[in-house]
Amino acid sequence: MPILLILVLLAGLILVTPTFGHDASLAGQHATAKAAIDARPLDRPARDGLFACGMARMTPAMPRPWLAADGTISFADKPVVAGSATFGQAEIAVMSGKEGQRLRGNGLPMHATGSFPIARGTPAAGWDRNPNRILPYKLAFDLPADPQPAAAPSCLPMGPIGVALSGAVFFNALDAEGRDAVAQELMDGCEGHPGPGGQYHYHHGSPCFDNGAPGRHSPLIGFALDGFGIYGPRDEGGVEIANAALDECHGHLGPVPLADGTTRVVYHYHANNEFPYTLGCFRGTPGDGRGQPQPAMGVGLSPSPPPAAGGPPSPGGGAGSPPPGGPPPGGPPPAAPRAAMGMAGPPPDKPAPDTPPPDNQSPDGLPPRPPS
Ligand SMILES: [Zn+2]
Ligand SMILES: [Zn+2]
Repeated sequence: MPILLILVLLAGLILVTPTFGHDASLAGQHATAKAAIDARPLDRPARDGLFACGMARMTPAMPRPWLAADGTISFADKPVVAGSATFGQAEIAVMSGKEGQRLRGNGLPMHATGSFPIARGTPAAGWDRNPNRILPYKLAFDLPADPQPAAAPSCLPMGPIGVALSGAVFFNALDAEGRDAVAQELMDGCEGHPGPGGQYHYHHGSPCFDNGAPGRHSPLIGFALDGFGIYGPRDEGGVEIANAALDECHGHLGPVPLADGTTRVVYHYHANNEFPYTLGCFRGTPGDGRGQPQPAMGVGLSPSPPPAAGGPPSPGGGAGSPPPGGPPPGGPPPAAPRAAMGMAGPPPDKPAPDTPPPDNQSPDGLPPRPPS
């Protein structure tokens, strides 16, 4: 049984065990999203843009049946990576204290996932031959305990930019080629997929998160690596927030719900359905180590077992029921800032030798980065 531990050391011990949906679908999720399909700049913060480390501009989108000429993604027309793999050993702990906020886990999500590598003969395989399988790794991030906006925003690396309360990580909105990953890549019913190294991740929100009740501010769904919280698409009064109401980092200063029913005005990000979906840049200061390659590159694993061939895919579907109970605290308690983080990961998974090249490109992931 997957568990989520929220350990708030300053305020005593709080244990929360939400039951994340195990049969996710797009039910309850937006039917569409507004993708970035042009060659917009990536070298500076901009609303509707993404400030990516070391990248000049986006690569224009490749046409897809689910992608309209104006950049609208129709999820009903986008194949879902079928399957219902579960990870009983998924774990994530969020420990807040004066030392900072420590996130520890094994990177596995607490919800079911699709079957990866993507099985041949399934609709998704026609567009994406993601050869990676989902693997556990050592997830360890130390976030600032009392995040503050920095003098200037900073760029987003490839790889993790935040950690979801589901136990898996957020990547930025780009694939490895600088395209909109939500528009181009195939996801499972929880809107996640593994990259090289087997690291399961999201590029936007998920129907498998605790997305709260309509009419209210979305609950906390995770933390950015600068320590600020990431919330779902609804702001005060349950109104869906558009990019126009957010800053260039995709966040704003406003009230967020706390576990005790009160609110607190803090800077926070929103995951909505407009590119860049989660973060456009870091408003705060991510700790040391965020640019280090992870999962660790270099040592290969044996090839993945071949996927089951053929056969009709099971529907990606079923409703991801949000967990009962209130959301975790809306923000870390005040304490001395601290910013040291690191993350170790598994060696990269290699495509099975008989895996043909995907018709688009390799699933997004982690282009090798020099150690910094
Ligand atoms: Zn807000
Ligand atoms: Zn991805």
